[in-house]
Amino acid sequence: MPLWTRLLRWYDKNGRDLPWRKTRDPYRILVSEIMLQQTQVSRGLIFYERWLRQFPSWNKVAIATNSQVIHAWAGLGYNRRALMLRDIARQVVADPSLRGLSSTKQSRDKGSIRFARNDMEDAWIKLKGVGPYTAAAIATFAFHERTIPIDTNIRRVLGRLLFGTTYPQPAIDDKIRANVDHVLPKRGRFFDVPQAIFDLATTHCAKVPTCATCPMRTVCPAAAKFLSGRVRVPKQMVKKAVESRHRDKRFPDRIYRGRILRLVRENGSVALDEIGQAVDVGYDATVDHDWIVAMVGRMEKDGMLSYSDNRVTLPINV
Ligand code: SF4
Repeated sequence: MPLWTRLLRWYDKNGRDLPWRKTRDPYRILVSEIMLQQTQVSRGLIFYERWLRQFPSWNKVAIATNSQVIHAWAGLGYNRRALMLRDIARQVVADPSLRGLSSTKQSRDKGSIRFARNDMEDAWIKLKGVGPYTAAAIATFAFHERTIPIDTNIRRVLGRLLFGTTYPQPAIDDKIRANVDHVLPKRGRFFDVPQAIFDLATTHCAKVPTCATCPMRTVCPAAAKFLSGRVRVPKQMVKKAVESRHRDKRFPDRIYRGRILRLVRENGSVALDEIGQAVDVGYDATVDHDWIVAMVGRMEKDGMLSYSDNRVTLPINV
């Protein structure tokens, strides 16, 4: 039985019921993809509906200011994603072919639009802010192009299932792509296979997998290795990603940047000199002032804040 048949049979009974799986609207799919970067699905679900109420279409978000999208993203973290989503929308609005609305490469066939092989993946990857994973995800989930979006979950599951590699690294991606015919059917529901793999990655094939109960264990060359109990998580994967942190501060800078943004968002305008004490109980102006100034400067450069006359605000009319 082909790999995809096993995966899809399991998925049909066990797959998660998620709103972005019930649409082929590239906008909604992009919103979900960007929100789910660094955000758990349960949390993403709440923000997904909220965002779509405020920005239901490409056009609505494309005309939003930095301040508006930052307000709408409040609580999700990694706020640059909000600006990135808006900036991608502006590029899509400028080129309707990215929405599948018109393109010299498309031909109409009985009312539906047909694409040449992976046209959309090729077009989307050229956009600023869109990487190979997102381009492939939009191409397959929205436009039903036959391609594999490879993120850490897909890499982990397919590296194990195809090659028996217990902890696959990004260098394996080309090998995975070269084996597309072992993963996706030529026709039919190839676009559901990655969704099945996402769910398998969550339920069984996690960093430390539960092979004993996995529906793929009889065909997976990594299962015996894990079941032997001799596989250890590689040290480089146990170590937490190194995030920049100022001297002996309790949290990485990312947390303090989030606090600064929240402070400014909630107060409208804050004096630069008041920020340190407001976001850090251990603030000491003699050694922390420059650190706060540098974070504000970086956020200003990223388009998240404005600074003038010693006051920090959200950007206006950008
Ligand atoms: S058998 Fe184990 S390693 Fe293979 S796919 Fe299932 S959980 Fe992953």
